Amino acid sequence: CLTALLLNMDFHYLEAKLYDLRMSKGFQTQPYLNIALITLDDKTTKELNNSAPLPLHFHSQFLEAIEKFKPKAVGYLVDFNHVYQANPQLFHREWGNRFIQAAKRLETQRTIFLLGTPFDVTEEVTPPLPLNVLPHSIAIIHNDGNVFAEDKITRRALLSLYGRSAFHLELTRKLGFLGKEELPKGSFHVPTVDGNYFFFRYHGSTSPLKDKPRQYSYPRYSFVDILKNRIPINALKNRILLVGTLSSDNASDFAFTPYSKSSFANPKLVIHANILDSMIHKDGIIPVPSLINGLITFIVTSAVLLWIMTSTPLYGVFATLILAFAFIITSHALFQLRGLWIRESQPLVGIFVSYYLAVPYRLIREYKKRWDYQRKNELLTQVEELKTNFLSLVTHDLKTPVARIQGLAEVLLRSSAETITARDRESLKHIIQSTEELNHFITSILELSKLESNDLHLRFESKDINQLIERSIESFKAQARTRSIKLLVHLEPLFPIQLDPSLIFKVINNLIDNALKYSLSESEIHIHSKEENDWIVISVKDKGIGMTSDERQNLFTRFYRAKNDMTASIPGTGLGLYLTKYFIEAHQGRVEAESEKNRGSTFRIFLPIRTSLVMQQDLPKENRNV
Ligand code: ADP
Repeated sequence: CLTALLLNMDFHYLEAKLYDLRMSKGFQTQPYLNIALITLDDKTTKELNNSAPLPLHFHSQFLEAIEKFKPKAVGYLVDFNHVYQANPQLFHREWGNRFIQAAKRLETQRTIFLLGTPFDVTEEVTPPLPLNVLPHSIAIIHNDGNVFAEDKITRRALLSLYGRSAFHLELTRKLGFLGKEELPKGSFHVPTVDGNYFFFRYHGSTSPLKDKPRQYSYPRYSFVDILKNRIPINALKNRILLVGTLSSDNASDFAFTPYSKSSFANPKLVIHANILDSMIHKDGIIPVPSLINGLITFIVTSAVLLWIMTSTPLYGVFATLILAFAFIITSHALFQLRGLWIRESQPLVGIFVSYYLAVPYRLIREYKKRWDYQRKNELLTQVEELKTNFLSLVTHDLKTPVARIQGLAEVLLRSSAETITARDRESLKHIIQSTEELNHFITSILELSKLESNDLHLRFESKDINQLIERSIESFKAQARTRSIKLLVHLEPLFPIQLDPSLIFKVINNLIDNALKYSLSESEIHIHSKEENDWIVISVKDKGIGMTSDERQNLFTRFYRAKNDMTASIPGTGLGLYLTKYFIEAHQGRVEAESEKNRGSTFRIFLPIRTSLVMQQDLPKENRNV
């Protein structure tokens, strides 16, 4: 739909500007130096002591003078009706005939002679008597004044009108560069005027304002210099001469047709030379069929819409910009190298319109998606909350009966130690151990639910960590002894720091508990503490089962347990390290783990010495929660 809409809008002005850009920038075709301009310029009118239009007798003398230069062709682009109006008497006396004779003589020495004539609304303005016997055809410059661009710039040239070929085509055919019926490439028919046009090419820099005009444009000679024989005899030999006005004295004669208002200002004679050049070299511009233009517009707009809708915004912007540049460069190259004129305006407008259409759509879609996510998130949070509440309720209610079972079992074991069998005693011990595990599990779950409901409060105290470590080791000694595991402790003297003793105690307990759980009998565990820069470092190193790098990856995720034969038989919740990390980070510290399969693991805790003090001072007591 967008393509159809764009194709219905012509964007003539924009297209004309883009066309001009291609015409003026890039590798310009060099002018054909065999075309020379003979200019009726200021110098001529001044030196001949006359005003424009120059009377006929000068033209006759000029034509007689030109014979000896033996040019290939003479295209005479002077409006003789204008000359006639100024001095009619000269035409009927000898000068009219002398002009005709000179032209005829040129033809006999095989120099082509052609008069260019103006056009008046519907028909050619034929030359005045007796000059009408000479070969003549319409030589008009077509300014883009109505449909394309309306900026009075000349881009296309008339080839033929009402079945008769115009000046440039006629001259090119007479010169033998085109066949009798042949039209230059890129020509197109305009039925309303029964005429053919073609887009010609400007050659080199055609500006007459340049310092060295010859280098950039066609060679020029002043009319008066030829008349007075001041030109070397070989200068014009075999050249195609275009004779015309190039004078600033007479505004009507000096018709400047700016090619591009800012940089080019071409007198009509230069434009005539360019048209002729394009026909001789068949380097006119070929407009690409509208079907192909439509297809290009469709492809680029679809591509932009697709990218913006489906890819990330950054990729979309880049892809769109790259597409626009690639398109401009390709069409520029085709224009320069092959003379193909692909319309740039519609695809470029298409790229930007589709971009600006697609972006809001995309935004709305993103917004909707985000809104959906948000709702889902809210639901998930609610479910999570429900789950946590449920867990904490259940575990809380479990805690008391489990403690009672454990207590009763212990009492039973103590009071009936003598009376029951060894087997029953073992069973009682198992009951006690299992209730302990269950208790541990319940405590962890309660701890987790506290975290998740943001109900964890840190109670900072100034404490020596070594005391906590020693207390913890004390509680594990018996267990270590039964499995013949040595606990090797090396604690450097430390200053007390600000911490929550109950949480840090849980952390140390958990690390030593893990080291024991995942060690084989008769191995050893090293427990160290020291001060290192601004940190207090506690390390627990075992020579147990260790972990592979895969197993280590999710170590600190809740409910994670490495899955292997060993861990399967060792009871655990998968919560210990998650809580450890959480508690340590709440103290603005960090945990590091190193491990090697079957070699053992080392866990290190880093607690900051100073930050904990800052925390204590900065936070009011009631806000010291995480
Ligand atoms: P739990 O020990 O209750 O399973 P943790 O969160 O404390 O839960 O540990 C998570 C997992 O990390 C354990 O299941 C175990 O696989 C691995 N792990 C922890 N500490 C050690 C250790 N010292 N040696 C080997 N594996 C360990």
